[in-house]
Amino acid sequence: MTHFDYLVIGGGSGGVATARRAAEYGARVLLIESARLGGTCVNAGCVPKKLMWHAAGIGHALHDAAAFGFRVDGLRFDWAALKRGRDDFVAYLNGVYASLLDKAGVSVVRGHARFVDAHTVEVGGQRYSAPHIVIATGGEPRVPDSPGAALGITSDGFFALDHLPARTIVVGGGYIAVELAGVLAALGSEVTMLVRGEHLLRPFDAMVRDELALQMRDAGIRIVTGSEAGAVRRADDGALRAACGSAEFEGDTLIWAIGRQARTAGLNLAAAGLGTEKDGSIATDAWQDTAVPGIHAIGDVTGRVELTPVAIAAGRRLAARLFGGQPEARLDYENVPSVVFSHPPIGTVGLTEEAARARHADVRVYHTRFTAMYHALKTQRPKTAMKLVCAGPQEQVVGCHIIGEGADEMLQGFAVAIRMGATKADFDDTVAIHPTSAEELVTMR
Ligand SMILES: Cc1cc2nc3c(=O)[nH]c(=O)nc-3n(C[C@H](O)[C@H](O)[C@H](O)COP(=O)(O)OP(=O)(O)OC[C@H]3O[C@@H](n4cnc5c(N)ncnc54)[C@H](O)[C@@H]3O)c2cc1C
Repeated sequence: MTHFDYLVIGGGSGGVATARRAAEYGARVLLIESARLGGTCVNAGCVPKKLMWHAAGIGHALHDAAAFGFRVDGLRFDWAALKRGRDDFVAYLNGVYASLLDKAGVSVVRGHARFVDAHTVEVGGQRYSAPHIVIATGGEPRVPDSPGAALGITSDGFFALDHLPARTIVVGGGYIAVELAGVLAALGSEVTMLVRGEHLLRPFDAMVRDELALQMRDAGIRIVTGSEAGAVRRADDGALRAACGSAEFEGDTLIWAIGRQARTAGLNLAAAGLGTEKDGSIATDAWQDTAVPGIHAIGDVTGRVELTPVAIAAGRRLAARLFGGQPEARLDYENVPSVVFSHPPIGTVGLTEEAARARHADVRVYHTRFTAMYHALKTQRPKTAMKLVCAGPQEQVVGCHIIGEGADEMLQGFAVAIRMGATKADFDDTVAIHPTSAEELVTMR
């Protein structure tokens, strides 16, 4: 048995962040990782997704180039070259993560961790103990148990694709579904989205989700709402056919993007006296503590705001509280900004208009919809749309929602202002930057 101050199960965004921070405070830390360092974000999430989003953006720019006088003839797109470059970059990041842990003095063991008791974990027959153990095992894509579901792939499989499918069925309407659909369509696949509900991006503000659906349809993506994919079969000609009620949809590849579930299988939580919620996640309180003293959980496995910076922030604050002499350190899950890397991107922070009206008596909403100058010379001119949701007599800005070119890079600074309690008057008092799209956020009337 080897003893440490802190055992970290999972070397993804949250695990690496909490391990490094705890080691900086002087704790003896062991991190256990069963697959590649960096977790979902680095290997099958944010990083490869963003590179694909850039590739799609270049595809759009090449298409737009003619409006600016360029003649782009004889263009060819090489999926294999893109995948090679992307995989190499991810491998490079795996190495960066290993070296960061090494420099911080974190011990790393490769293998699958399972609990022996509340303070002991076993990896490959070796036992490790600590007064504090954090579960940071993340999540994995859900696949339904309908007949033929295994013929489809998930976002993990998307990143393994060695060619661009000619026709793709994307099942789901959440952010991963719209992001993958947008990339595939931009690169030349014929995309059909099967969405169970009436809307894409259900929890988002109605303005951005309706605008996105409009623009995705204009870009040629077929969005079929109110359609729950059932059985999948391979037809004689090799195509996949997904049944939806009495209709059938055909594609060469089918991607399940119907949500993710916490990864706890094989952890032997029962040995530690720990259970899971109905959805498989591990319940934590405001301090990332589970029901068992000394066992904590952070990141996607907790089922709370499943984003990389959230896992990192929760992990760092937990380390600060346990080892850094900061007893009040904890993550506030309010006003977490996020971006959907759709085409065009969406940036959102705070309350939707609907949520604000449910929570506050006096809500005032400002919105605008305009053509960004980037599109001025083109025949097809998608709109940028913005909304500020304000509450109370001071018109405090409690929500900001943007869809359009640049929304992804626009939001971070506004998130700071909103977190600080900025009012509409503060926005109005800020001099605009011209000519930008962002200036509309400080000139709305
Ligand atoms: C397609 C896609 C796109 C995304 N895009 C974004 C984005 O743009 N922005 C954003 O903020 N977030 C994005 N996310 C979400 C983001 O990836 C996750 O929120 C983040 O990775 C969660 O970090 P984590 O530390 O909780 O878990 P993970 O990063 O999943 O890490 C968990 C690690 O634990 C390991 N593990 C599991 N069980 C064990 C065990 N028993 N023993 C040892 N090791 C174990 C796993 O191998 C894994 O490496 C995306 C996710 C996906 C799938």
